[in-house]
Amino acid sequence: MSDVAVQTAPASDGSAAKVETFRNRIDGEWCHSASRPFDNLNPADTSDIVGRFQASTAEDAERAVGAAQAAFEVWKKTPISRRAAILNRAADHLDAYADRTAREMTREMGKALNLAKDEILRSVQTLRFYAVEGQSLTGEVFPNDDPDMTVYTLREPLGVVSVITPWNFPVSIPARKIAPALITGNTVVFKPSSDAPLSGYRLAEAFATAGLPKGVLNFITGGAGEVGPAITEPPVIRAISFTGSTAAGEHICRSVGFTTRTQMELGGKNPLIVMDDADLDKAVDLTVKGGLSLAGQACTGTSRVLVMKQVRAEFTERLVAKVKALKIGNGLTAGMDMGPLATAKQLETVLRYIAIGKQEATHVYGGERLTGAGYERGYYVSPAIFADVSQEMTIAREEIFGPVIAIIEVSSYADAIAKANDTEYGLSAAIVTRNPRIMHDFANDIQSGTVKINRTTTGNLVNAPFGGLKRSSTSTFRESGRTGLEFYTQIKTIYRGC
Ligand code: NAP
Repeated sequence: MSDVAVQTAPASDGSAAKVETFRNRIDGEWCHSASRPFDNLNPADTSDIVGRFQASTAEDAERAVGAAQAAFEVWKKTPISRRAAILNRAADHLDAYADRTAREMTREMGKALNLAKDEILRSVQTLRFYAVEGQSLTGEVFPNDDPDMTVYTLREPLGVVSVITPWNFPVSIPARKIAPALITGNTVVFKPSSDAPLSGYRLAEAFATAGLPKGVLNFITGGAGEVGPAITEPPVIRAISFTGSTAAGEHICRSVGFTTRTQMELGGKNPLIVMDDADLDKAVDLTVKGGLSLAGQACTGTSRVLVMKQVRAEFTERLVAKVKALKIGNGLTAGMDMGPLATAKQLETVLRYIAIGKQEATHVYGGERLTGAGYERGYYVSPAIFADVSQEMTIAREEIFGPVIAIIEVSSYADAIAKANDTEYGLSAAIVTRNPRIMHDFANDIQSGTVKINRTTTGNLVNAPFGGLKRSSTSTFRESGRTGLEFYTQIKTIYRGC
């Protein structure tokens, strides 16, 4: 089980609140770093310290990599049914503690409790999916002219892989990387976001409780500057699965060697097209759910809405009415539609983009920092809606990663597609229409890794491939589903004679 030390810190009411210190897990041991731990704060109430975490050093990271390297030979030969059983037991553990972990996730990054619980249950499903699917990943047999020869391929694990993840889906993103890595026989170094380390800790704890041998999954927290190079640059790291900003992903890609495989899932500027035949209430609903339910902090979140001229005014009016009715508050309180932004840095960035939007477009609604009762110690902003947005504007081009909707008027389907594709990103895109011809064309015309028709830009299945085009992804290997396994294996071709 986990090994935590408990200290006290002043609570908002002046009393002493218990603060747990959480450790790294390296080579099967829960261990401290030599450095001073850092605090993980609740974005809904920054006087609430969710936990203290190890500010790991490069030496800690090197030990984690060394432990993963030492564990590899035995783990890759461990029978696959035993590897699958460990994944299933980790899933059972996550499931059993889903309520606790969901509350902790809401406390550390702000999403509504029901969304946090959904995420954990989806992660349970991911672990169980890979426990089964991983057991049927096979090679191929090739017909040939020689009756005395068999030609076939073997898939084998790569070795040590690094998993680096963001704060917005702090259990499901690591789960969909770690589970396929482990079932295929790789060993892992896992670094969660410094802004949501507790959720990642609980995932590592689930694997430890499930009986994963020492060194197979190593968990280290700490800043990217110190830990990052040590878990990405050494040639012994055979693969890096990273999800985060395009800037960080591109930096990592440039700094790693030729023999290190990379899978980078990065930023987005996701469009939703509203055609003139659309059910407008549905279009509004999809915009709000896709753009605001995580306070706009989903990589696949709707940030540009391209609306046909004929329905633009009506759509905008209905959207504003719906957004005005949203309940904004602490995700632990039942019935909240939108929580705080996840970090002080997020708050600053989002407010900066809102100020830019007010200068370059028509400000229709919201975008204020919320203060007063219930909001005084949190990073709350009301959703912002801008109209008359054009292609060259900053708010139409840059990823904001916050509750900001840019409405862009379009004159035809062709105009909508041209504008939707006029971006450096290509993660997710949606259209709302009743026209089957347009549905068909949209799937072909849009430059996006995920295409949604009459659905939100957000959300993806655990058993279907996920990833972006253009600067949203390295476009090497997709995550999720069966394709998620391929990234973690290499192919050997065998020519066997008698
Ligand atoms: P981020 O700042 O890029 O950080 C992501 C993770 O990478 C964190 O664990 C961070 O560590 C680490 N990191 C940053 N620079 C690194 C480096 N040079 N070497 C090694 N590790 C490094 O992103 P974020 O703010 O957490 O997440 C928001 C971004 O993620 C958005 O751009 C969003 O679009 C993207 N995202 C993409 C997807 C997708 O599937 N495409 C899904 C979710 C989020 P620290 O926390 O210690 O800095």
